[in-house]
Amino acid sequence: MRHDVVVIGAGVQGCAVALRLAQAGKDVLVLERSIPGAEASSAAGGILSPGVEAVEPGPFDDLCRASLARYPALARELEAATDLHVGFRGGGTLEVALDDQHAQILAARAERLEKNGIAVEILDGAATAALEPGLSPDLRGALFFPGESSIDPRPFSRALYQAAHGAGARFQTGQVHRIVHEGGRAVAVEHETGRLGADAIVLAAGAWSALVEGSGLPRGAVRPVRGQIALLDTRPRLLSRVVFSDKGYVVPRADGRVLCGSTMEEVGFEKAVTAGGLCAVLELAIEIAPRLANAPIIETWSNFRPASPDGWPVLGPSTVPGLFYATGHTRNGILLTPITADAVAAAVLRKPPPVDLSPFSVERLEARRAR
Ligand SMILES: Cc1cc2nc3c(=O)[nH]c(=O)nc-3n(C[C@H](O)[C@H](O)[C@H](O)COP(=O)(O)OP(=O)(O)OC[C@H]3O[C@@H](n4cnc5c(N)ncnc54)[C@H](O)[C@@H]3O)c2cc1C
Repeated sequence: MRHDVVVIGAGVQGCAVALRLAQAGKDVLVLERSIPGAEASSAAGGILSPGVEAVEPGPFDDLCRASLARYPALARELEAATDLHVGFRGGGTLEVALDDQHAQILAARAERLEKNGIAVEILDGAATAALEPGLSPDLRGALFFPGESSIDPRPFSRALYQAAHGAGARFQTGQVHRIVHEGGRAVAVEHETGRLGADAIVLAAGAWSALVEGSGLPRGAVRPVRGQIALLDTRPRLLSRVVFSDKGYVVPRADGRVLCGSTMEEVGFEKAVTAGGLCAVLELAIEIAPRLANAPIIETWSNFRPASPDGWPVLGPSTVPGLFYATGHTRNGILLTPITADAVAAAVLRKPPPVDLSPFSVERLEARRAR
């Protein structure tokens, strides 16, 4: 059986690319070994914050901003297509300082960000407390990124799957063992159910992408980095917006739940919530907002970021005709979903991509390995 496009993996990347390709009239088959969206995509905090991630201006920062700009329209599109509420919330992001030294570092960073045209405000302790009264009175100040947002990754993942399905993409359960190359092209995948031919194959298998035989990814191009999360319940609601410190973050949901995250652990594919991991995320949450100490723990979990060596995603054509990547999104995969969908779909359709994809090519990782 031959398809226009086979997508490997039904996390947010696989579903979003499938949605755009199905909307373009392609016959799309998505192969998922488990439940769509059940891995990293449902485990994420859902922070949509280019400002906190911004180290310096450049292609990655531009990519994050282009993706954030697409979010309001994507959230509306998904809610209209599925009747699900994806929890897209504005209100901005706070990056708080717990001591004077950190406050000075943040102020210097704000100056650099402002020079690069990024909307950011410096708040002192009183202004921070006025904006978020549930935060610690000991905070020395904060950077406020007013244009930033968050989304609830579980309904978001589910909505992407339903929208892709509704647009005509088909989903099949089972593991892809191998991408088949013939005559210098990727022509098919070997799936649990047999060989499935395709004109184009999109590898979107998250942290497991490099384990698919024939992926063409250089060694170490995508590796798992475990993150642990604790979900707390606050009633009445304690916080309104995402708050970062230099050790982690808290993400409030509209209903009062507060997600506390997250660790960055190099432990391979060992999916576990550990005493040390929980202790770390809860300690930082309570440091930021002391009243969280009284909040019941509703749930804990861990999952794997698909981490690339430089933290940038691997997007677009591979070095093998017929094979495309939508992987390696590291800690910003939810933020980067809308632009990934549009850019990778454009590459498959041989249309001009909405952003220059060369900084995110697999070749940059090969060049990095050679150095
Ligand atoms: C704890 C944590 C917190 C995070 N917080 C944020 C955040 O706040 N903001 C943000 O932007 N990002 C965040 N991220 C990162 C984000 O979750 C990921 O970058 C993103 O979800 C990756 O999406 P994906 O579709 O590539 O991967 P996944 O969601 O992992 O999907 C990959 C899919 O491929 C399937 N698969 C794998 N191998 C095969 C195979 N051989 N055959 C068939 N199917 C296969 C898997 O079963 C899986 O469903 C966080 C991640 C973690 C772990």
